[in-house]
Amino acid sequence: MKTILITGSTSGIGLGIAKEFAKTKQYNIIFNGLETNGQEIAEAVGKEFGIAVMFSNANMLKPEELRKMVADGITKFGKIDILVNNAGIQHVSPIDEFPDEKWNAIIGINLTSAFYLTKAVWPGMKERKFGRIINIASAHGLVASEFKSAYVASKHGIVGFTKTIALEGAPFNINCNAVCPGYVKTPLVEKQIADQAKTHNIPESEVVSKIMLAKQAVKEFVPVETLGQLSVFLASDAATTLTGTAIPVDGGWNAQ
Ligand code: NAD
Repeated sequence: MKTILITGSTSGIGLGIAKEFAKTKQYNIIFNGLETNGQEIAEAVGKEFGIAVMFSNANMLKPEELRKMVADGITKFGKIDILVNNAGIQHVSPIDEFPDEKWNAIIGINLTSAFYLTKAVWPGMKERKFGRIINIASAHGLVASEFKSAYVASKHGIVGFTKTIALEGAPFNINCNAVCPGYVKTPLVEKQIADQAKTHNIPESEVVSKIMLAKQAVKEFVPVETLGQLSVFLASDAATTLTGTAIPVDGGWNAQ
């Protein structure tokens, strides 16, 4: 059995990724997130698919909690083979009104946590000559949209981090890739609808068609299952030579 740690996996995309790994029955899963029922969510997936799980509510803004989550995971399962840096937040606001504390939280959660966690799992991966690091970036890791300065900066940052880790990991069979989704219907996006309506000065009912899906050629939200199945492939032995990439899963947004 391999062990996978997925941050922010008690909601949205992270939970969708966890379920695709669970379906294979080849992974123990370390769940993480701030949802107060995180333990129950993790146990429900464990029970449904008959796999061993653990839950940690480590806060991405607290490096000591991140290191403890990794240490606890290694104590329970012996090793961590795959790390998915997925936890993330968003804030939509023009630059002149963008709150300083939101900038710092977005950079801390979306980018800096990946640095701390990669550093913590690295020695074991290097020693065993196997590791897979998957960073859930965004279409906004490749292109920008107005009013998302911190988010776009964090996601471009994680794409750069991905490339660097791919180069450093190559001698040790550690691959590192970024997945760049377009819009996925999760709580993160639901929360954004009101902000987008206010900032763009349009009714909430028009946000999905006029703002969100406007840039995608395929006018559909990206299913979490697609991101999960891609992640399962990136974690497999077949993906050894696939490293340092930023893969758009964005309905053709980046083709334009
Ligand atoms: P979500 O809000 O459904 O889930 C986010 C998860 O991160 C939750 O489990 C939450 O508890 C956790 N989290 C947030 N802050 C945390 C903190 N300080 N410490 C620990 N955990 C924390 O959002 P989602 O849409 O599933 O987003 C997951 C990732 O996918 C994010 O990195 C996001 O930027 C990225 N993404 C989302 C979309 C989309 O359209 N939803 C598109 C592209 C990329």
